[in-house]
Parts: sequence; structure tokens; C-alpha cells
Amino acid sequence: MKKKISYLFISMMLVLAVLVPSLSVFAEESTSESEDAVSGASQKEYTDPAELAESYDIVIVGAGGAGMAAAIAAHDGGANVAILEKMPIVGGNSSKSSAGMNASETKFQKEQGIEDSNDKFFEETLKGGKETNDQELLHFLVDHSADAIDWLDSMGITLNNITTTGGMSVQRTHRPEDGSAVGQYLVEGLYANVTERKIPTFVNADVKELLVDDNNAVTGVKVNIEGQEKEVSAKKVILTTGGFGANMDMVVENKPELEGFVTTNQEGSQGDGIKMAQAIGAATVDMDQIQIHPTVEQTTSFLISEAVRGEGAILVSQEGNRFFNEMETRDKVSAAIIDLPEKYAYIVGDSALKERAKQIKTYEEKGLVVEADSLEDLAKELDMPAENLTATLDAWNKSVEAGKDEEFGRETGMEEGLATGPFFAIKIAPGIHHTMGGLKINTNTEVLNEEGQPIANLYAAGELTGGIHGQNRIGGNAVADIIIFGRQAGTVASAAVAE
Ligand SMILES: Cc1cc2nc3c(=O)[nH]c(=O)nc-3n(C[C@H](O)[C@H](O)[C@H](O)COP(=O)(O)OP(=O)(O)OC[C@H]3O[C@@H](n4cnc5c(N)ncnc54)[C@H](O)[C@@H]3O)c2cc1C
Repeated sequence: MKKKISYLFISMMLVLAVLVPSLSVFAEESTSESEDAVSGASQKEYTDPAELAESYDIVIVGAGGAGMAAAIAAHDGGANVAILEKMPIVGGNSSKSSAGMNASETKFQKEQGIEDSNDKFFEETLKGGKETNDQELLHFLVDHSADAIDWLDSMGITLNNITTTGGMSVQRTHRPEDGSAVGQYLVEGLYANVTERKIPTFVNADVKELLVDDNNAVTGVKVNIEGQEKEVSAKKVILTTGGFGANMDMVVENKPELEGFVTTNQEGSQGDGIKMAQAIGAATVDMDQIQIHPTVEQTTSFLISEAVRGEGAILVSQEGNRFFNEMETRDKVSAAIIDLPEKYAYIVGDSALKERAKQIKTYEEKGLVVEADSLEDLAKELDMPAENLTATLDAWNKSVEAGKDEEFGRETGMEEGLATGPFFAIKIAPGIHHTMGGLKINTNTEVLNEEGQPIANLYAAGELTGGIHGQNRIGGNAVADIIIFGRQAGTVASAAVAE
């Protein structure tokens, strides 16, 4: 039986809160926690904590994209599965993902006449990662990407609108049909498939520890569920707890120069899975490789998606000038912004672009967008020399027409110029975004120890693993990572249970 936190329940709580003051604390806390975790998450049903069994074939720790993909694949592989999620809602950072999911040689690319190849996807990711990526994992990722798009499509999650992110030469970032952000759509679709399969999903279930036997083989987890500590046995445990981008102590410990940066991550991204696995001897890789994203609104830590630049936006300085190739990789664009005297910049676009990148509506609703009918008025609003801004857009539109950016060498996101008023700008600067390092795994998603040997019964997938992205993750590759390796973890672990 599912426990439904319904509107009726919330209304009853509010009435009771007036009558019984102590209850209002519960009502306020649960609302604000949910909102902090993932804004815009829709109402969902979760399993009653009383139904937590003493043992399962497979326990999955963390209900983001990797966890839900693993749960679906494990269930379809015949295993008895449960998901434990420490936040009050499912979704994790996956709910926040915006630009899309990279994949090559997909049916949607072919239908739209986009020429791409797995080799090109591999080479460009390797170049973006400064040739430090784990090449076996990367080959697995690109070679299974088209199939992952088909797998999602077969479950009603159709990513057929394709754009570009920095460091990629072709359109391979797949997003929902209407061009909106990928995260909410993906999480809604995955969770619908989880509930359809009746996979128990427990929220407020904070996993604290991995249980092991005398041979250090994993036998289950210790979980704190709604204030009670319980041990749950499992034949296999899959860790999908995400990265550590919201754990400032861990970030600064691994990369001291990031002290004081804002983070785009949800509060559940604390590195728990990495620490739990390290406690039983797991090896890590690239822990100091922490990505800062160039376009984060600083007062809200809200990410302004790379798809906005992919659809044609430019970056200008406070002086109203372009200063870098906006479609370079994130590390380079971030460095260029930090090199500006003011250490921030503006994303500038027009009203036609707003139609192509639907997430801009959300930014407007959040009050992050400055808009004006003309470029002169926009410059005035931004306290920027108007003659510079108009000259910058004139020059940019000529580059788009010529198909060549002489000044900075940009080659993608140049299909449309910026000439249709009203015009808009969003002030941005870099913020902590993605932790590329984490647990060392093989292509079977087995967690490896310092000797390179699998720790028995332990698997991991998603942002808590390391190596796939090397020293710089390409936008759109993390969603590919969580779906492809989440699915692989569920498939491999359920096959091992069946043996
Ligand atoms: C704002 C934003 C935009 C992004 N946009 C994109 C994009 O467009 N394309 C792209 O490829 N990537 C994008 N990324 C990166 C990508 O979204 C993440 O890397 C990816 O979603 C991580 O998925 P995951 O399943 O590994 O972790 P998550 O989705 O973070 O899920 C992990 C879950 O585990 C839970 N958990 C943690 N510890 C415990 C514990 N001890 N017990 C139980 N549960 C626990 C967490 O609460 C969380 O719900 C974006 C990231 C952010 C923050």
C-alpha cells in the first residue's frame, strides 16, 4: 500500500496546525525541505516506511536518475528490489538537469538528418576531458548511448529534440520534444515506470553504512528511516547517491580554490555513497576534479542552461563586448569569466531564442531576466555602454550570416542570429556544478578496491563514480552516464542474483 501525501492531507495539516501549534513545525519543515531539494517537483506517492522488509535481492541507495534506471532494469531482470532515498522526495540533481542527454547514432538524429558517429562522440569527449577519461568506461558510454535513448523511448520518455553543448561539434544533446529542460521530465517518466512496476520507494530513508561479512562481502545496509535505525539485508547493493557538490567541506578538502563558490547542487549531494564505500576499502579516482559551470545566477545559485547558448545566446562583459567562444568547454568559459575584471558576465539573447529554449520562461518566473524592447534600453538597464552592445550584436549577426566567427572561432549554436526584440540578459558567474571524481568502477559497475578487485556484491552508478568524464565533463554527458550505467548496474546485479 502506498502512503499518499495528498493536497487533502496538506489542507488537513494546515487546519490542524492552526488548532495545534506544535504541528505547524512539521508542516513548515516538510514543505521547505521539499522545495530546497528540487524546486518544481510534482506530487508523488511513496511507500509507507512500515512496509520496509528485512531483506531484498537488491537494495538501491539513492533515487536520482541512476537509482531509478537501476531499479527498473533490476526489476525487469527478475529481482526483488527496493529503493532507499534520504530526501523527502525522489529526483536528486537529476531533477535539476537542464540541457539534455548526449547520445550518438540515435534514431532521432538519423530522422533529423544529423550526421554523427560513436567514434566522433568518443573523440570529442576524450578531448574535452583532456585525454584523462577512463577509456573503457567511455567506450561503454558512447557505444550504449543510442540504445539508452531507445530504452527511455520504450518507457514513454521521448528525447527527440536535439541541441548542442560546449565542446561538441554536432547536435547530440537530446531533450523533450518541446525543447524544455530534461530533468523534471526524465524523473517524472522514470518514477512513473518505478511505480508501474510496484518497486517500493522509501523516502526520508538515510543510508548510513554498508554491512559486510567476514570476507568484506556486502550483505546489506544500515538505514535511518523516519528517525529509526534499521538493518536491511540484500544480496546486492547498488549505490547511486550522486556527487558531493553540496558538501562544501568535502569540495574544499579536495579543491581548496573553490572556497566561497556557490553551488548548483541539491542538498542531498553530500558524497555519502563515496564515504560509505571508502569505509569498506573502495578506491576512488579524480576526487579533485570538480567542475565549475560558467553560467550560474549568483543570488539564487540557479543554473542557466548551456542549451541557451546552444540555441544561439552570446556572453558579453559589463563593457558590452563578447570576450570568448561561448561554446568552448565549461572549464575554459569559466576561466574566461573569472579573468574579466568584474568576474561576471551577461548571457544575451532575443525573443526568438526564448521560443527555442523553453527554460528561459522559468528564469523569468524566478525574476532572473532583464528584458527591454531595444538593445539601447537593455544596455541602459544593465548600466552598459549602449554603443558597445549594439556593435557587438551587429558583428555577431554578421558572423552568423557568414557562418564564421572570425573573432573567437565559435562554430556551433550559430543557426540563428539575435535580431528580434525584445532582448534579454541574465547576469551570471561560475558556480560548483559537478563532481567528476568518485568511486572506481569497471564496465560491469562493480566497485573496485585499491588492488583493482571488485568488492563482492557492491555496484555503483552515476555521479558518485569517477573516471568517465576525466578532467572536464561535457554538458549532456552526465545524464547519459546515469542512464547507461544505472541501467547496466541493474542488469548486471539482477543477473548475478539469478545465478
Ligand atoms: C542544475 C543542474 C543542471 C544539470 N544539467 C545537466 C544536463 O542538462 N545534462 C547532463 O548531462 N547533466 C546535467 N547535470 C548533471 C546531472 O544532472 C547529474 O550529474 C546527475 O543527474 C546525477 O545523477 P545521479 O543519479 O548520479 O545522482 P542524483 O540525481 O543526485 O541522485 C542521487 C540521490 O541519492 C540520494 N542520496 C544521497 N545520499 C543518500 C543516502 N545516504 N541514503 C539515501 N539516499 C541518498 C540523494 O538525495 C539523491 O536523491 C546538471 C546538474 C545540475 C545540478
